[in-house]
Amino acid sequence: MSRKTIFVDADILIVGGGMGGCGATYESRYWGRDLKIVCVEKANIERSGAVAQGLYAINCYMGMHWNENQPEDHVRYARNDLMGLVREDLGYDIARHVDATVHKFEEWGLPIMRDPKTGRYQREGKWQIMIHGESYKPLVAEAARKAASAVYNRIMVTHLLMDSKHPNRVAGAVGFNVRNGDFHVFRAKAVIVAAGGASHIFKPRAVGEGMGRTWYAPWSSASAYALPILAGAKMTQMENRIVLTRFKDGYGPVGAYFLHLKTYTQNAYGQDYEAFWRDSIEKMVGDYVNHHPVPTCLRNHALLEEVKAGRGPIRMVTKEAFKDPHKETVGWENFLGMTVGQAVVWASQNIDPKETNPELTTSEPYVMGSHATCSGAWASGPEDYAPAEYQWGYNRMMTVDGLFGAGDTIGGTAHKFSSGSFTEGRIAAKAAVRYVMERSKDRPEVSQTEYEQLRKVIYQPLETYRIARNEIVGGTVSPSYLLPLHGLQRLEKIMDEYVGGISAHYTTNEPLLTRGLELLAMLKEDLSYLGAPDLHQLQRAWELQHRVLASECVTQHTLFRQETRWPGYYYRADHPRLDDKDWHCFTLSRYDRETGRWEMEKAPVYHIVD
Ligand SMILES: Cc1cc2nc3c(=O)[nH]c(=O)nc-3n(C[C@H](O)[C@H](O)[C@H](O)COP(=O)(O)OP(=O)(O)OC[C@H]3O[C@@H](n4cnc5c(N)ncnc54)[C@H](O)[C@@H]3O)c2cc1C
Repeated sequence: MSRKTIFVDADILIVGGGMGGCGATYESRYWGRDLKIVCVEKANIERSGAVAQGLYAINCYMGMHWNENQPEDHVRYARNDLMGLVREDLGYDIARHVDATVHKFEEWGLPIMRDPKTGRYQREGKWQIMIHGESYKPLVAEAARKAASAVYNRIMVTHLLMDSKHPNRVAGAVGFNVRNGDFHVFRAKAVIVAAGGASHIFKPRAVGEGMGRTWYAPWSSASAYALPILAGAKMTQMENRIVLTRFKDGYGPVGAYFLHLKTYTQNAYGQDYEAFWRDSIEKMVGDYVNHHPVPTCLRNHALLEEVKAGRGPIRMVTKEAFKDPHKETVGWENFLGMTVGQAVVWASQNIDPKETNPELTTSEPYVMGSHATCSGAWASGPEDYAPAEYQWGYNRMMTVDGLFGAGDTIGGTAHKFSSGSFTEGRIAAKAAVRYVMERSKDRPEVSQTEYEQLRKVIYQPLETYRIARNEIVGGTVSPSYLLPLHGLQRLEKIMDEYVGGISAHYTTNEPLLTRGLELLAMLKEDLSYLGAPDLHQLQRAWELQHRVLASECVTQHTLFRQETRWPGYYYRADHPRLDDKDWHCFTLSRYDRETGRWEMEKAPVYHIVD
């Protein structure tokens, strides 16, 4: 079938119009008044990304003008939560700019709650402020839409294009329109990837009728990692997957409950169990358990051990707080503003939190760079603050020339959340504009052979299905093709059983990881037989390709780091303790797309803030 090819020329191309992407689009226009700024998004930026449904809190706000916190405090906080390992230069850079971003959100119409006594923003916790955030995303998208030369919605980006003159320089991207199938070739001088995190790489707790219910957005399909990995960018901390303690079956958030409503947890027998596990945790990780606040992973660990000891389920004690009508309202509104599904689950399970303390559980692992975890691309730091070893070019540029990132894409900087991701988009955009202006006469060249080849590869699943579909008369299993859902379930099973998912109690070891890599290699071979009945399934096919590559990267990193740095996120049973002597470092990987090999190395952690 003949398909239209649409060529788009841009100075700056932003891939993904979520929080990071909208921030990048907005700021690119500020510094690059005359530049062509193009944002490309697989959904519609109005309601795309992890903030699609809205949020009830902005989790990263310093409050510097009220002297509430300083950027250094945030660096200390994130470092502590990540058991010592964060890129302090990148974190500091976000923290010093994030307040200005939040003030813009308010200017653009976001209702931020105020403390009636002080007039300041209403704090949920030390770093969080409370918002009426159902329309958070449309509001941020409006700013990006007004700033962009063009926004291309419904285009799934599948590959980055490289400069035919300089193999380590990016030159654009290709993708297809998920509604009409048009092929898009974007030629750009700089590319900012802001394509979100990765859910559905580990088997989720919710299967069967609940499939699709995950904590992180189900449409976060690892493009943020696969696109740079395929372009040869170095990745960091990909082993640092996140596991969340959440309300059972609906993944409802617990932040407002712990911080604002002051609810607390107990085991099935009404006991406080966290203190009970302190000494054994200290044997595993040393003094980190005595830090305040106790790192998120260690709190997960105590919960997991308590359940293993047979004293589950763990419950959140809501009965006391919900007696206060104000707190009861906040408790429900918290869900209605961002996770309506949890309210529905409670209703369907006859749970009234005033009468019953609801159960908590730990989620399957996710890979992302903006929450309490820091997987992602290895990026150059700010000129005025980063140590020399972390600087090789422009701020937030990856190890590929002209390729920038923001939000979940960039590694080493946990706890940026929605506001920090938008801020990082702004930071990346400012640097990308400078990159483009300083190289105004040096436009990268896109090779026709390269994009024509990619065009064939991209649509192949439609062709494979068309030719083979008559081999079966009913059902979905074919001798000649694999449907994206089948591939996804195979991936989730491998990751779950070999790389530390829920079925394995988050535990793995070298033999398991080695076998996992063999099985992933076989899955990768079979991906050339993906069949897609329609464009929607073609998108699923490419999301699967991205998830598989990112999963391979996660597995390589998990194998490389021979210690258990974050118990509660995952365990290397063959190296059960934290080992600061050998592993107080970042792990870096680089994928060679010609040979399919991964190179691993360590990079130093510099502590800039005392
Ligand atoms: C359940 C949940 C609760 C959260 N709670 C809070 C909270 O209370 N407070 C807070 O501040 N933060 C919260 N966060 C975190 C916040 O949502 C993220 O930190 C932030 O959205 C990350 O920004 P991003 O730009 O990296 O990714 P996203 O905002 O997810 O944007 C990624 C975008 O890329 C697009 N995309 C992906 N792949 C492609 C592709 N191949 N081609 C084209 N487009 C693509 C996606 O459609 C999406 O629009 C929460 C997140 C989740 C999931």
